[in-house]
Amino acid sequence: MTKVIPLRPHRPALVLMSVEWDQARALYVAACERCFETATAHRLDQATEWADGHRCDPELVALLATVLSGTAA
Ligand SMILES: [Zn+2]
Repeated sequence: MTKVIPLRPHRPALVLMSVEWDQARALYVAACERCFETATAHRLDQATEWADGHRCDPELVALLATVLSGTAA
């Protein structure tokens, strides 16, 4: 296996994860940009912890890929 050096070592390199502050709800919202799963947390470290521990559901990712490629074509 080739060794990959991620730009942000605390995150899996292949999962695009965003953590944003939702002012209206006063919560941090972590969102996976691959399977679109989201989680909310009161503290930033809780949100990043979820992001770090998150693993995409392979079936959901495959389904989304099918749907997205279908609409894009
Ligand atoms: Zn995911």
